[in-house]
Amino acid sequence: MATQTLIKSLKYLFTTPYTRLVPRKVKPFKTEKIRGAHILDMNKCTGCSMCQQVCPAACIDMVQVEGNYPQNPRKRFPRIDHSKCTFCALCVEYCPVGALSMTTRTGYELFTIDKNTTLKSPLELCRIEGEVTVTKEDFVVGITPVKLGEVPLKRGE
Ligand code: SF4
Ligand code: SF4
Repeated sequence: MATQTLIKSLKYLFTTPYTRLVPRKVKPFKTEKIRGAHILDMNKCTGCSMCQQVCPAACIDMVQVEGNYPQNPRKRFPRIDHSKCTFCALCVEYCPVGALSMTTRTGYELFTIDKNTTLKSPLELCRIEGEVTVTKEDFVVGITPVKLGEVPLKRGE
């Protein structure tokens, strides 16, 4: 038994590792709908603070930003602490105007040893680099039209 275990262990010394050396050897694996750093459209945001209220990690607070934002008279915008964020996308889903989206900016691009850089101001959230992957549209469920005379089924029927 012990010999078999030893042989097996020795065999693995000469095989390639399962782990990947990111980012030194390979780029991080990213899917089409990966949930990375948020991007904020300050020309859409109304300052309603819905994103702050639904955030389960309590990592959003509202701050004031100077500028001309007619749709947001109080000039209040979300600020997000990415060190606390779980990237659940609830803020994206519940934003009534689709001002928040998520991007491909994730993994090692967000790693930092400087805690002061994880808190992203609204202006920084506007300038997040990366392709947009998840938007409010991804959470809008279409209503299936029902024909006259048909009774829609309820859950469990
Ligand atoms: S993705 Fe989730 S945890 Fe992160 S800010 Fe949005 S609601 Fe909060
Ligand atoms: S990002 Fe959306 S949910 Fe958050 S304050 Fe602006 S409009 Fe409201």
